[in-house]
Amino acid sequence: MNLAAEFRVDRLPDDRAQAIRDRLRDAIIDRRLTPGAKLSEAEVGTLFDVSRTIARSALQMLTFEGLVRTERNRGAFVANPSPEEAKQVFASRRLIEPGITTTACETIDARAIAEFNAQLDREELYLAARGPDARRAEIKASGDFHLLLATVAGNQILLRFMEELVARSSLVIALYGRSGVSACGHSEHREIVDALEARDVKRATALIVRHIDHIEADLELRSRPAQSLRDVFSAS
Ligand SMILES: [Zn+2]
Repeated sequence: MNLAAEFRVDRLPDDRAQAIRDRLRDAIIDRRLTPGAKLSEAEVGTLFDVSRTIARSALQMLTFEGLVRTERNRGAFVANPSPEEAKQVFASRRLIEPGITTTACETIDARAIAEFNAQLDREELYLAARGPDARRAEIKASGDFHLLLATVAGNQILLRFMEELVARSSLVIALYGRSGVSACGHSEHREIVDALEARDVKRATALIVRHIDHIEADLELRSRPAQSLRDVFSAS
């Protein structure tokens, strides 16, 4: 696909910056762009055929969301969240998601249930598949479930918070997740949907908190000191 053509059309600078931000964000979340990767304004500008001002604006949006880190005189890089930051992301989710779940128990209707079922089907499909692409798709789909929950709850401001938290979580899971372990237990999502459908607030909120605990417990949140060649190979 011709990236430049997609972004050259008559669009407002803000719209173009937003579109570039969305594309870069997807690439960061599904780990095609890895933590620490350099994101040069000039390169982003050339790739998407936009001015450096627009490229900078897209990178600033990502910096604001915590997905990109900017260093004076060195430029922008894909963020490399510390274990402490990772813990704070999940602490925030434990505060926000029970509230979203409570509201979703009131707002859920037949259409929302159908959307949840379609979402669960997609997750099952990715879970059954193997390999790095499937794992990336699975991390993305797991996040989509939580965004759907916020969408059903209908509070736009909370949805924005969740977009940031889910994006940050995906980055953290990609960095610290144990390979081969599912980021979000599929059966737990199913149980949450069942509780929502029954409008059982107490059960739904207890399940979402337990679920967030499990996601965090699946991570190895230790800082990893840089290893020398000798460290890596003398152990084997
Ligand atoms: Zn989940």
